[in-house]
Amino acid sequence: MTNKDLANLIFPNITKTIEDYRKIYPARNLSEGAKVTRFAPSPTGFVHLGGLYQAIIDMLLAKSSNGIFYLRNEDTDKVRELDGALKLILDTLKYYQIMPNEYQDKDKVIGDYGPYTQSERKEIYHAFIKYFIEIGRAYPCFCSKEKLEKLRENQNRDKVRTGYYGKYATCKNMSIEEAADRIKNGEEYIIRFRSLGDNDKRFKFNDLVKGEIEFPENDLDIVIMKADGLPTYHFAHLVDDYLMGTTHVVRGEEWLSSVPVHIELFKTLGVKPPKYIHTPLIMKKDGDIVRKISKRKDPEASMSYYKEHGYPIEAVIESLMTIINSNYEEWHTANPDKSYLDFQYSPKKMSSSGALYDLDKLSNISKNIISRMTKEELCEKSYEWAESYSSELKRLIEQDKNYYMNILNIEREQKKPRKDIAKYDEIIDNIWYMYDELFENKEKAYEYQTITDKEEIKKILVTYMDKYFELTDKDVWFNNMKALCDELGYASNMKDYKQNPENYKGSVADVSTVLRVALTTKCMTPDLYEIMKLLGKERIEKRYHNIKNIS
Ligand code: GLU
Repeated sequence: MTNKDLANLIFPNITKTIEDYRKIYPARNLSEGAKVTRFAPSPTGFVHLGGLYQAIIDMLLAKSSNGIFYLRNEDTDKVRELDGALKLILDTLKYYQIMPNEYQDKDKVIGDYGPYTQSERKEIYHAFIKYFIEIGRAYPCFCSKEKLEKLRENQNRDKVRTGYYGKYATCKNMSIEEAADRIKNGEEYIIRFRSLGDNDKRFKFNDLVKGEIEFPENDLDIVIMKADGLPTYHFAHLVDDYLMGTTHVVRGEEWLSSVPVHIELFKTLGVKPPKYIHTPLIMKKDGDIVRKISKRKDPEASMSYYKEHGYPIEAVIESLMTIINSNYEEWHTANPDKSYLDFQYSPKKMSSSGALYDLDKLSNISKNIISRMTKEELCEKSYEWAESYSSELKRLIEQDKNYYMNILNIEREQKKPRKDIAKYDEIIDNIWYMYDELFENKEKAYEYQTITDKEEIKKILVTYMDKYFELTDKDVWFNNMKALCDELGYASNMKDYKQNPENYKGSVADVSTVLRVALTTKCMTPDLYEIMKLLGKERIEKRYHNIKNIS
C-alpha cells in the first residue's frame, strides 16, 4: 500500500488535483507591484477595533498599488460562529466605506477567486490535504483528546516543550496498512502535517513591521484537518492565500509565533509565502498602566461602540490612522483637504511594540471634524444616527428641522468654530434648553455664579425685560446691556471694572451670566444673543417670569 492509496481511501470523492485548482484560479493578472491583501476575520459576532485597523491597512495597500483588497470569511471554527456575524462584518466595512473589491454576501460572490467563505471551500482544502498525504507530508492521527492531554501533562512534568513532535508524535510512524485498517474500522481521526523541521536550527524571517526576526524551525506535526473534515486556520490560510494570490498578509501579532509553521507549509507546497505585516496590539491607558484593549473589559474594543455613540466615521478612521503610522498626523496637518486614502502607508512607520489608542484623542479629533461640518451636514448625519439610536433627537429634528439647524449654527460659520460636540449622542445634552418641553420637564440646577442673591437676580431680569429688551441687532443689544449695567451699578466696561472694582457691584460679565443662567440654567453656552434671538421674546419672558415668581 502506498501513500497514494491512503490518500484515496481518505478522500475517495476528491478527483480534482491541486493543478486543477491552479487552473480554476490562475495567478492574478495585475500590474507590476500591485498588492493583493485580505481582511480575514472569524465570524464571532464582534468586530474588534483591531480588525478595522487591519482592514484600513489592507485597503490602503491595495488602493495605492492598484491592487485588490478582498474579504474572506474564516468560519472553520463552527463552535464559535454566530448567526448574522458576516452581515455585521460587511455592514461595518460598508459603514466605514472600507469596502473590499472581492467578497461574498450569502450566495452572492463578487470576484473570481471565491467562494470567499471557508466552510464552502472544503473540497478545495481536501484536494490539498490529499496531495500532502500523497507526498508523505500528512498523516492520519488517532490519538484521543485524553491521550493528548496526558501527553501535555507528561511534557509539563518533564519540563520539555509541549506539542506533537519528535518522539511524542506517536502516529507519525504508524504503517500505512495499520492506518488504513483503523480508518476502515471506523475509528475517528484527524490529519496532521508531517514536519521535517529541526527545532535546533534557526532561520531568518522578515516581518515588514518588526523587521528581521530569527525563529527556530518548526517541528510540530500540527493538525491540518479536524475530525469534522474542516481544515485548521493554518492550513486554510496556506491554501487560500496561495490560490487567492495574496501578496501581503496583514494580521495581528498574536500570529507571529505561528510563522515557523506557515513558512514550512508554504515550502512544502513549493510556493513562495506572502509578505507578512504583523500589526501591534492596540493598547490603552488604564490609570497608571498601559495594557491591551480587551474585548471583555473595554466597550471601545468593539466597533459597535463608535456607531452607537455617534462618532463621525471620519473621526474614527482618523484616530486609527494616527496609530497606524507615526507620520500620519504631520501629513494630515500639511494636507488638511486630502482624504486619508491619499496617504502612503508604510509598515516601517508602524510602532512595533504596541499602538496606544486614546479616547480623549478621538474626542478631540471628532470635535474638530464636527465643528467644520455645515449645519446641513451635521443635521443630516445626526438625523441618520438618531434614526437608529435616539427617538428623542429624531423627534426634535422632525418637529422643526430649520430651528434645529439654526441652533447647531450658533458659532459655527466663523474662523474658529465652537468645538463642543464630539459625538451625536451629546447633542441633546448641549441643546435641550432650546426646547420648551425639555426645559420644562427637566430637574433644573441653575448655575448662577457671582450673583446669587435672589432679589438681585430678579431685579436684573425685570429691568432687562422692562427697559432693555431688544433683539433686532447685536450692536443695539450690546449697547442695551451696557445701559442696563450702568443703571444697576455694574461696570459696563471691563477695563474700568478691573481698575476700580470697589466702585461697582460687579461687571457686565456678571450681569450677562445672570441673563444666561436664568434662560438656560447653564453658565457656559454658545453666544447669548444668538440663543435669545432663536428663543424669541415670548419664550424668554416666560422663563424670566418663572424665575421672578420663585420666592
Ligand atoms: N481568522 C483569523 C483571525 O480572525 C485571521 C488571521 C489572518 O488574518 O490571517 O484572527
